[in-house]
Amino acid sequence: MPELAPQDNTLNKLSIPLWFSRQLMRVPMLSDLLLIILWLVLWRVAALMEYAPHASIWFPPAGASFAAFLLLGLRAIPSIAISCVLVTFWEGYLYQTDMTASQLLTIGSLFSLAHMLPYYASASLLRVFIHNDEQKLPRLMLAFLIIGPLASLSASYCIQISLMLGGAISANEDASFLWLPLWIGDLIGIMVLTPLSIGLISRIFPNSGIWLSEIGLRQSPGPLWPFIGKLSFAALLSSIIMFSAAHFQVRELAFGIFFIGVVQMWIVYTETPLRSAISIALLSCVTAILVKLLSLGDDALIYQFSISVLAASTYFGLLIPVLASNNERLQEITRKDALTKVLARQYFFQSANRELQRARYYQQPICLVVFDIDHFKNINDTYGHTVGDIALKQLSQTVMAQLGPADLFGRFGGDEFMLLLPGYDLQQAQQLLQVMRKKVQALKLEHLDIQLKCSAGVTEIAAEDTVLKAFERADCLLLEAKKLGRDKIIAANDTDDSSPPNVHSL
Ligand code: GH3
Ligand code: MG
Repeated sequence: MPELAPQDNTLNKLSIPLWFSRQLMRVPMLSDLLLIILWLVLWRVAALMEYAPHASIWFPPAGASFAAFLLLGLRAIPSIAISCVLVTFWEGYLYQTDMTASQLLTIGSLFSLAHMLPYYASASLLRVFIHNDEQKLPRLMLAFLIIGPLASLSASYCIQISLMLGGAISANEDASFLWLPLWIGDLIGIMVLTPLSIGLISRIFPNSGIWLSEIGLRQSPGPLWPFIGKLSFAALLSSIIMFSAAHFQVRELAFGIFFIGVVQMWIVYTETPLRSAISIALLSCVTAILVKLLSLGDDALIYQFSISVLAASTYFGLLIPVLASNNERLQEITRKDALTKVLARQYFFQSANRELQRARYYQQPICLVVFDIDHFKNINDTYGHTVGDIALKQLSQTVMAQLGPADLFGRFGGDEFMLLLPGYDLQQAQQLLQVMRKKVQALKLEHLDIQLKCSAGVTEIAAEDTVLKAFERADCLLLEAKKLGRDKIIAANDTDDSSPPNVHSL
């Protein structure tokens, strides 16, 4: 028979966009070219939304640069430097300046230095938080909200200086405050577009965003339509508010943006972090377009302020689902025994107390069993601990398969386990244990050609009893079973002092 070529399962394991981006990465320099195109498109979007010379509601390329340095470090420098120079020439063409190519090249180079240095330095600082901070997400968000504004402030100031040095603007009084609108635009670009740019750039450079899953920011999305519905609702609300503000000339109406915050929080709590980032980017885009279209430039600051507040609350909001799912994962870890996946000792006792209350309320009998594998040390000593671990797992699965939904199964430690059996009297519990014993003895252990045997103590928890007292009693009965030669089940009630314990063996 001809040998079959190994199948490429990559597509099954990866999502299609991720698979596609992995394929793209194989084309040399294509990723860098895509980054340049992304940067230029974002720059053009910003240029279209200028409400005054050099003042755009937002400057999305700042978010793209910050994200690129965060994900790629120094590797992002050539693409961003080329983009900065290209847009300088593009701007020269758009504004029909009479500058020579070498003048534009000088301005472009100065601009790229002024833009890249602050963003590279601040993204590198933020990377320290990503890689060294155990607390990761909460402190990372806080660090981002502090570092982002400082980065954009220094970038804007450096850009003003670079434009003056390059002769693109004169050092008159108006120009000396150019850094202020530049800063607000860059700040919003950073706040609003860094997460979405991270999402896009990590697709263009698939190996760069590995830490995104680690900090909980890469999650699988739910159905698309509810998200589109929420997003459209927020965009519609935003349009109504801004149209009303423009039509009635009442700037107080801008405060209606608060309600968009409520819809955005709804998105944040019910959708993935990437979708929340898309939503904040699109909503701010709608706002920026409407400011331009409806000539709301006089109130631009109000809208810029509300977008930044919306973005900041989104970041803090993002923490809640991530922290909640981390919390759930930690609870799962503390509740279950890592090896056998049965209940951990402490959680078993907590749950047993609850079940005991319930059994008492419904006046049901309830039994507690403690059992331990016979001569388990021999397995470890003869075949090694890995084989011993497999035996513990197989035994746990076999016992678990015999239990009902209300029964509790926990590991006390080592090879000692506990069962809580609500609704079972002593006799029924012994019958169940006999069935289990047969199943365990019939178990075909991996790598082992021996029969597993257990000893058990079983007792009924009486009306005035506690789980702990019942456990101590069952543990004594287990010791008794060991002393009597092992492979035995010994049953007794606490009221059974006078009568001898009930001993079962094969
Ligand atoms: P007995 O019949 O008296 O119970 O004898 P035993 O050999 O089973 O002795 P005991 O129950 O006291 O020893 C349990 C052994 O289980 C001791 C320890 O080395 C081993 N053990 C404890 N936890 C684990 C574990 O997670 N994996 C493995 N493979 N062995 C474990
Ligand atoms: Mg043992």
